[in-house]
Amino acid sequence: MAKFHPDYMITMKDFVKEHSVLLRKQTQDVAIPVPLEDRHTLLSMLQYLKNSQDPNLIKKYKLRPGSGLSANQIGVDKRMFAAVLFKDHNQKHEMMFINPKVMSHSLNMIYLPEGEGCLSVNRPVHGFVPRYERIKVKAYNIAGQEFIMSLKGYESIVVQHEIDHLNGIMFYDRMNKDNPFQLPQNVIIESLY
Ligand code: ZN
Repeated sequence: MAKFHPDYMITMKDFVKEHSVLLRKQTQDVAIPVPLEDRHTLLSMLQYLKNSQDPNLIKKYKLRPGSGLSANQIGVDKRMFAAVLFKDHNQKHEMMFINPKVMSHSLNMIYLPEGEGCLSVNRPVHGFVPRYERIKVKAYNIAGQEFIMSLKGYESIVVQHEIDHLNGIMFYDRMNKDNPFQLPQNVIIESLY
């Protein structure tokens, strides 16, 4: 049986280390229809994110809170990620993306003033990460159906961070090499809030 079945609970021990080659290569496309094993893995990933936002479970299992998780972060070389985000008015928004592809993006950019964090990086990394304000993404859902989603603001940032993972890119690769707080010139870029 595959490791990530529905009764399996992902904890920090399942995460690959920051300098693992799996975080530095293009992940493999998932077959469509989505194989049962991949569906189970993706559901386990989504459950991790939900658990990681529950104060009791965080304490009990020493979980690090996260908004997004890509399969290669838990050692699975597959092009898929999950995200659990709070939309307006604290509405929880759960998302699973399989074989995602950015179809278009805004010219305007945004960044998180506090910088970005990552479940694969267990050290503080300070600086601004420029992201597109809006993106349009095509992907498959767990039932193997294609969908197109437009994202903006924080959701857009999280989805770009996760798609970067699937392409072997870490968030700090996108910071200015000489001064991590230097924003790109010649583009309109503003703080998310
Ligand atoms: Zn990350």
